[in-house]
Amino acid sequence: MLAIRQNFKSKNESKNTKTLMNGALQEETSEKTQLIKGQMNQKFMREAIRLSVKMMRCGQGGPFGAVVVRNGKIVSRGRNQVTSANDPTAHAEIVAIRAACQRLKTFQLDDCDLYTSCEPCPMCLSAIYWARLRKVFYGNTREDAARINFDDDFIYREVGLPIGKRKIRMKQLLRKEALVAFQEWERKPDKILY
Ligand SMILES: [Zn+2]
Repeated sequence: MLAIRQNFKSKNESKNTKTLMNGALQEETSEKTQLIKGQMNQKFMREAIRLSVKMMRCGQGGPFGAVVVRNGKIVSRGRNQVTSANDPTAHAEIVAIRAACQRLKTFQLDDCDLYTSCEPCPMCLSAIYWARLRKVFYGNTREDAARINFDDDFIYREVGLPIGKRKIRMKQLLRKEALVAFQEWERKPDKILY
């Protein structure tokens, strides 16, 4: 009986030791995973920064770069091309999102992350939401951008204002006629929702 008890005790002890070891191992593994994740995040952010510097030096546009990443791999790269493409919407994030969607043949990037050299402007932030990206990493802040005359901060403030108080005037016109498309959409049986 004593032997059985001792045996039982030692079994239990060894189980406890095993659990402790497993716990420590899991903690170590999760620490390692976190470390690798952190290193990967830095690697992708450095690529976005590299693009921002490279394209700016080439004179192709403003000092901004971005990459879209899926399953630890870069899906697309974007750099600011506003002045070279004569496209005010060609911000690095938008360029990267468009390229990722083209490549993955989808209009939703919900299993992708975006790394951008600067906090996104309101236009890019909206595109990020429309594309439903999973997570966004950014380098410079919008205040940093405002300091070199990319005043996204101004647009952020405008968005929060009532329509009548914004700098660019907006006037509503022909709502009844415009509603026709919405009413038809509501009834449309084969619409693709997004
Ligand atoms: Zn932007």
